[in-house]
Amino acid sequence: MERIEKIIKNLEKNNMQGFYAKDSKEACKMVEEMLFDGCSITAGGSVSLKESGVWDIINNDKYNFADRSKPGITPEQQQEAFKAAIGCDFFFSSTNALTENGELVNVDGFSNRVSSICFGPENVVLIVGKNKIVKDVEEGFLRIKKVAAPKNTVRLGINAPCSKLGHCVSLLKNENPCMTDGCQGSTRICSSYVVSAYQKTKNRIKVIICGESLGY
Ligand code: SF4
Repeated sequence: MERIEKIIKNLEKNNMQGFYAKDSKEACKMVEEMLFDGCSITAGGSVSLKESGVWDIINNDKYNFADRSKPGITPEQQQEAFKAAIGCDFFFSSTNALTENGELVNVDGFSNRVSSICFGPENVVLIVGKNKIVKDVEEGFLRIKKVAAPKNTVRLGINAPCSKLGHCVSLLKNENPCMTDGCQGSTRICSSYVVSAYQKTKNRIKVIICGESLGY
């Protein structure tokens, strides 16, 4: 708990709001209290949102949720859902890693998720399981190479080297590779590397740290 309190203080120093929810139920309650009827919502692809139950909260008729993954969606509708993130009231996602210094570490393939975290939505709400806490930015990028990216390639059925190795191919040559080292080609899911530090707009990013493990 001491570690989480320190992270919340450091998030605040970085102009982000930090909250602690002891479990998913409490995280869902916090989310419900933030939303208002008719608000516009978009979301990044996130296992944490699904596992926590937050996805079921936002996917409700009382909100205007542009769901880019709904069954039967056409490529054109999916593009519209991506564009809806610009100027929407709330963008929901998780983060690949959260540092003790209150920084967010993320890697994205198409970059829609990191672009929404950086700019566009009025509010960004991140649901972060305790398993995503790391010491610093370097450990955050290693976490991506060892945990987040390999599991995501398996989940998405993408035939990148890490889906078979269980870690980034760059770790075969060097146990501490440059953050951008890795495979090349159309199956690579690591394109945009973003660290969110001190924010210009106070409290736009809200981080709900959950006392459970969520996603990867
Ligand atoms: S760079 Fe390639 S091998 Fe490395 S984690 Fe990303 S997708 Fe996997």
